[in-house]
Amino acid sequence: MLGMKSYFTKGWLRVWVLAWLVVAVSAGHAATTVEGARIWPAPDHTRVVFDIGAGVEHSIFALEKPARLVIDIKNVKLGADLSRLELGGSPIKRIRSAPRNGRDLRVVLDLDNAIKPRSFQLEPNQQYGHRLVVDLIQENQKALPTKDEPVLQDNAGSRRDIIVVIDAGHGGEDPGAIGPQGTREKDIVLSMAKTLESLINSQPGYKAKLTRNGDYYIDLRSRTVLARKYNADLFVSVHADAFRTPQPRGASVFALSQRGATSETARWLARSENRSDLIGGVGGVSLGDKNDVLAGVLLDLSMTASINASIGVGDYVLKQLGGVTKLHKPGVEQAAFAVLKSPDIPSILVEAGFISNPREERNLKSSAYQRRISQAVFGGIDSYFNSTPPPGTLLAYNKRQAQNLAGGQYRIQRGDTLSAVARRNQTTVNELMRHNGLSNDRVLVGQTIEIPAS
Ligand SMILES: [Zn+2]
Repeated sequence: MLGMKSYFTKGWLRVWVLAWLVVAVSAGHAATTVEGARIWPAPDHTRVVFDIGAGVEHSIFALEKPARLVIDIKNVKLGADLSRLELGGSPIKRIRSAPRNGRDLRVVLDLDNAIKPRSFQLEPNQQYGHRLVVDLIQENQKALPTKDEPVLQDNAGSRRDIIVVIDAGHGGEDPGAIGPQGTREKDIVLSMAKTLESLINSQPGYKAKLTRNGDYYIDLRSRTVLARKYNADLFVSVHADAFRTPQPRGASVFALSQRGATSETARWLARSENRSDLIGGVGGVSLGDKNDVLAGVLLDLSMTASINASIGVGDYVLKQLGGVTKLHKPGVEQAAFAVLKSPDIPSILVEAGFISNPREERNLKSSAYQRRISQAVFGGIDSYFNSTPPPGTLLAYNKRQAQNLAGGQYRIQRGDTLSAVARRNQTTVNELMRHNGLSNDRVLVGQTIEIPAS
C-alpha cells in the first residue's frame, strides 16, 4: 500500500474512499443471519459450526468456574434454534444465546470441563455454505493414543500381529463427494472401513485400527500421526471418487508419487517435533544421532522404500478389486496425497468407485457391495503380507515354519536356540546335532543348519 497516494489521482482517491464507505455502511445495516448450527463430537475435540455469511467478525473467550465458552458474533441475527442441537458426546451441557448491543449475538456454551477453544471460518464446500467453526479441544484427555507397544524385538520367536490402520476419508463438516442421489462419501467410506476392520480383526495375525469411527473430521496430518502411534505396518485410506460428468466409473488404488515425497521430506525435517516421533519402532527411521543432511537422505530412502512397498501392496489390492468391480485404471496410480505421506509406513488410498456415476452410487450404498470391496481389499493385503511378511510377525513365523517343515535349510536368527529350532521343527536337539555334525548345541546368528524332513 506504500506510495498509493502518489499513484492515485485525487479523483480516483475519492472513488476509492466512497467504495469503502459503501461497504462499511452496508455492513452496518444489513445484518446476516445464523441459518443453522451443528455439533460434531470427536474423541479429542468437539466442533461447533454456525452457518453464517462470509466475513463476519467474531471473538471467543473461555471462562472458568463454571467452565463456559462465550462466542460473540458481530452484526448477526439468530435464525436457528440452538436449543434443538444434540449435545450427546460433547462437553456442552447447555447452549444459551441473546442479542447484544442491539445488533450483535452472544452465544454461551455451558461446559462440563475446561477446554481449549479455537475458531476459524470455512469456505463453502459440497454440502454447506460459509461457516464459522468453533473447536472445543479436550486438553486433559489424551488426544491420541500413546505408543502402546514397546520397541518390538525382531527375534525368531516373536509372533506379533500385523497392524493395519484404516482411514475413512472426510467426516463431520466435510462430506467428501456427493452422489446424484445425495449419497455422501463420508458415510459410505466409514461403513466400508468398519467392514474392513472386522474382516481384518477376524483373521489371526492381523489387527485393525480406525482413524475415525464416527462422523467427525480429522485433519490429514493427524491421520498419519495416528498410523505412527499405532505402529502401523500398513495404512489404507478409503475413499470414493467423483467426476463432473456421470460416465467415469471403476475402482482405483493410489500410492504416493515421488515428486510429492521430496517436498514432504523437507516438511518432516522442518518440524522438529516430528523428528522425535520418527525415532525407534519397527521399521522406524532413527534420526537422533544424524545431522540434517544425512537425515534428509535417510528419509528420502525410507520414503522411496515405503513408496515401493505401497505400490507392491497396491498391485495385490488392485488385482483383487479387478475380480469384483471394474477398474478405473489398470495399474496403481501415484499422486501427492497428503494422507499417504508417512515416510516409513506403506500407505495406499483406495477409491472404491465413482459416487458421481448413478449406477456405482447405488452399488456403493449397498452393504453387500461394500462387503465385496472390503473382502477384495483385505484379500490383496493378505496376499501381499503372505509374500513378504514383516519380521517378527505371526505371518513371518508361520512362513518360516512351513518352509522348515518341508525340510531343507534354516538360517539361525537372533534369539534362536537350537532347542527352539528343534521344537519348531518337531525334532530334537540331538537329531539336529547328528544331522548337522555338531559337537554341542551352540549355534551362531547367520549359521545355516540342515533340517531333516519330518
Ligand atoms: Zn475422498
